[in-house]
Amino acid sequence: MKIIVHGGAWAIPDDAVEDHLKGVTQAVKKGMKEKNAIDAVEKAIITMENDPAFDAGYGSFLNEDGKIEMDAIIAQNSCFGAVAGVSRIKNPISLAKKILYDENVNFLIGRGAERYAEKNNISLCDEKELILEREMKRWKKIKKENKKPEDFFHSTVGAVALDEKGNIAAGTSTGGTPNKIPGRVGDTPIFGAGCYADSLIGASATGYGEHIMRVLLTRKVAELYRETDIKKACREALAILESIGGYGGVISVDRDGNFGYSFNTPRMAYAFNEGKEIKAFI
Ligand code: ASP
Repeated sequence: MKIIVHGGAWAIPDDAVEDHLKGVTQAVKKGMKEKNAIDAVEKAIITMENDPAFDAGYGSFLNEDGKIEMDAIIAQNSCFGAVAGVSRIKNPISLAKKILYDENVNFLIGRGAERYAEKNNISLCDEKELILEREMKRWKKIKKENKKPEDFFHSTVGAVALDEKGNIAAGTSTGGTPNKIPGRVGDTPIFGAGCYADSLIGASATGYGEHIMRVLLTRKVAELYRETDIKKACREALAILESIGGYGGVISVDRDGNFGYSFNTPRMAYAFNEGKEIKAFI
């Protein structure tokens, strides 16, 4: 198994570095144990959704109303399952995976997505179980100061894996941006924007969603990869994002097991395996 994960691209403060490094390392460790790329991606992302260090699942940012609204996507072989605006799902990535295997639907939102979860044996949780005291404080502070925070926090999580059979899978999960407008959906659950996977390459993005979705960042990596190597493809895709004033990061794996990553933010938390060894960076 070859797996790379990210835990967001932004100016990760020094006091959050250790938790982010631990979180991405743990995610790779869990993912590596799986046989199939899709299960590796799901496991790695569940690990980070359950980790309060990240803006996904437990510990998600709150919207302007102080509510949780999460988005997630998982993809393989040009197929995907996605959810947006869910509040009562502990692990949105697992719901996205259920949808991936349903040939009648690709993308579900809000209450309909939650109803689908119940019907498919994913139990709903109380939204309060996902809300951290830390996030309540952040929400109140941003409201009080009345300043736009979107530029500063991006701890979305993502994973891309290649298994021994040559399957590539990718996934991304987020609570979105702090104090976002209720109903706002970022790039994360949009196939080709926050996540992409075909038979040659997979990619997951993080950063300012409004720009990422305009350049279809992860699809752009796949297009550039047809002409160059994976590392250059990631760098060039990021340059396109930057050219329209966007910022963020992207991770990627190709069919030969090469990793690519690039970011134009001060820091990005990411980790990957080299055989049994795990390397983590910020
Ligand atoms: N891209 C995500 C969004 O705009 C945020 C992030 O990456 O942290 O919702």
